[in-house]
Amino acid sequence: MLRTSSFCRVLLSLLSVIVATPATAAEPVNEVRLYALDCGRAEFKDMGFFSDTGEYDGKPGGVAVPCFLIRHPKGALLWDTGLGDKLAESKDGVELAGGIRLRVPVTFAEQLKALGLTPADVTHVAFSHFHFDHTGNANLLGTSIWIINNAELAWAMRTPPPFGVDPTTFSAYTNVRTQMIDADHDVFGDGSVRILKAPGHTPGHQVLEIKLRKSGVVILSGDLYHTRDNRKYRRIPAINFERADTLASIDRIEKIVTNTKARLVVQHDMVDFRALPKFPAYLN
Ligand SMILES: [Zn+2]
Repeated sequence: MLRTSSFCRVLLSLLSVIVATPATAAEPVNEVRLYALDCGRAEFKDMGFFSDTGEYDGKPGGVAVPCFLIRHPKGALLWDTGLGDKLAESKDGVELAGGIRLRVPVTFAEQLKALGLTPADVTHVAFSHFHFDHTGNANLLGTSIWIINNAELAWAMRTPPPFGVDPTTFSAYTNVRTQMIDADHDVFGDGSVRILKAPGHTPGHQVLEIKLRKSGVVILSGDLYHTRDNRKYRRIPAINFERADTLASIDRIEKIVTNTKARLVVQHDMVDFRALPKFPAYLN
């Protein structure tokens, strides 16, 4: 009798653990956290198009392609979605025309698992712009609210697609919940995570400002700059949509950086990417 009842107690307590702990549950966060995920690499035989004044002509180089997850008590925002997990299937990467090689050593989905999350836990997704190296995993996020800049979408949907845009990577946008924006946007309504309009690289280009408890203000550059040198010397890529708009956006964002004592992260710069906590570590 005694043995049976203690067996029952053990069984009941096991059952309660199973019921209370779904397999993929992640603890909700009580603060804003910024995670930098590795969403690929790009190598170039000729970095020439990263400046329209000739400094990189004929010189090889490479850039990081991160995605950023911002966890907030009210949800989780993915900022940019990288090159796309499909590329991980080719171990040596994929060679594009013009001497460009793309690699995805570790998938986005695999990295999310380290936090006990799946794409379904990402409540919001937003894009600095619609170049393919920022939209690669967009279609994995079918249950998220997509925050889309109207001018960017109108430009990216032109026929034929503009250089650097692959509409198949974000084709799910017609079937998801969208929040269309034209200007700055406060993602969670408390001022802690704000999309800031910064056109020029593309018509609807934008950057992300995050206010963190310990680390202060962090601004993710999108492609306002591709390298630290481009920031330092105000070099403008030859592929930018509008040079004058880019300079005006640089003027605005640099004033915000100064006024908020922000840390500006040049997303594609390998040094800036490596300076961030190595995932799954985070800034808070
Ligand atoms: Zn770009």
